[in-house]
Amino acid sequence: MVKLIGKGVYSAIAIGNISVIKKSYAETSEIKADDKNKERIRLENAKNEAVSQIKKIYEKALTDAGEETAQIFDIHLMMIEDEDYNDAISALIDEGYTAEYSVAETGKNFAQSFADMDDEYMKARSADIKDISDRILSCLSGKKDDNRSQRENLIICADDLSPSETMSIDRDKVIAFVTAFGSPNSHTAILARSIGIPAIIGMGKDFLQKLTDGEKAIVDGETGELILSPDKETLEVKSKKQAEEKQEKALIEENRGKENITLDGTRIDVFANIGNPQNVISAIENDAGGIGLFRSEFIYLDKERYPTEEEQFEIYKTVLSEMKGKKVIIRTLDIGADKNVEYFGIPREENPALGLRAIRLCLDRPEIFETQLRALFRASVHGNLGIMFPMISSVNELIEAKRICDKIKNELKSDNIPYDENTEIGIMVETPAAAVISDKLAKHCDFFSIGTNDLTQYTTACDRQNPYLDKFCDTENTAVLRLIEYTARSAHENGIWVGICGEMAADTSLTEKFLRMGIDELSVTPSFVLRVRDKIRKTNLKGHPGK
Ligand code: PEP
Ligand code: MG
Repeated sequence: MVKLIGKGVYSAIAIGNISVIKKSYAETSEIKADDKNKERIRLENAKNEAVSQIKKIYEKALTDAGEETAQIFDIHLMMIEDEDYNDAISALIDEGYTAEYSVAETGKNFAQSFADMDDEYMKARSADIKDISDRILSCLSGKKDDNRSQRENLIICADDLSPSETMSIDRDKVIAFVTAFGSPNSHTAILARSIGIPAIIGMGKDFLQKLTDGEKAIVDGETGELILSPDKETLEVKSKKQAEEKQEKALIEENRGKENITLDGTRIDVFANIGNPQNVISAIENDAGGIGLFRSEFIYLDKERYPTEEEQFEIYKTVLSEMKGKKVIIRTLDIGADKNVEYFGIPREENPALGLRAIRLCLDRPEIFETQLRALFRASVHGNLGIMFPMISSVNELIEAKRICDKIKNELKSDNIPYDENTEIGIMVETPAAAVISDKLAKHCDFFSIGTNDLTQYTTACDRQNPYLDKFCDTENTAVLRLIEYTARSAHENGIWVGICGEMAADTSLTEKFLRMGIDELSVTPSFVLRVRDKIRKTNLKGHPGK
């Protein structure tokens, strides 16, 4: 028995046989072509075939994994038609190179440019470019879409899997996958979570050499273990854990359509966090009671220029309309720190996490802020909107942000443009300063939403982006819990509601604690809504406090 450890990205157990995957398309050794015209036609045919394959994968993703996941392949369809990408391939063919070389070289260069970018969203596009280039290459080589293997109960092991490879996986035969590379936020990992397949990433570059095709193995997506040739005892332990997991999953599904109410009758809202309008579908599918955090900065990250008021208005209106009167809290842009956009021209900073970000940037450049606020207030008549400011650290910032809101409302009024006068205005409590002065801040807003990701980072002085600090980051840090408790008390003493929208909200080992603190709302990744509801429904606040 051999145990290898990586990073689990979907917590479930699979017991099956190793299937090692190597990339299917031919290496492009021949680089000069005899006939440029022939290469152009070959490229065109391969591209058409690739487009029709991606369309099929899109349809499969739509039925198997939902709209949000399928969007990835919509992006692939856009990227494969991208003018710059196609011009670069054509230029190489014009220089006399083969279609294979031209695609491989362009794919490599574009993927590298994306990988070199600072912001995480653009970095992730690198895998997409590789994916579509690999697909065109595979079509050029004349190979049909890969069917992997005729065997069953497969644990697919590869250096890396592209999103379309992950999605093409035959769910009847493949029960897990394990890769040498990848990050927990890569599309592949997100796909694994949305289709619910146990997966481990980051096993290290030599890991494929330790495997034998067909060997029996266990994948534990919770612990990140890949156990090769397990002994009888390990097999028994993991089989038992697997049976318990299946039982739990079925029980969690039973919570659909039910109330978020504890055994003693305390009600709480469970909302969903989203990053773009497409995620609304996932929030609805997972029975979320509202949107507790719409990270609006993704609208800015998606572009190479400032989004216009009209573009933003359409997005906010769509989200509000689709949520049909349920609460939708849209956070004003949180650009800066790890979410940097070049066109904002933020000067280089020694400590970007402590720099010109979020509300600071908005107050520094009110014209950007005002455009967003105009779009938000105009959209407010299409649903139940709450506007939330990120990274507040003083009362003055909140007062100034609200003054700008009033200015926008007055402008709309004199232009006879309708807006909802009752739009709630709240703040993220995600700096220790905001938590400590929450008693004062509560007097100037309608709600608090505690951002535990940043609150933990700033309270413990542990950079949330730094993987080497994992062992120092206590996700249940007492200092952070005290700040949450104090913030909840300040909110209620001043008659406003308080929620949590950081990752801690989905940690069910803390649910009872949060309920006892009087937290009114928990906003989590859509796929965690039912799990958190299940925990709430099993909690009895009249009993002794759990640990
Ligand atoms: C947080 O900081 O907890 C939060 C929800 O915001 P973000 O993760 O976008 O910084
Ligand atoms: Mg934050």
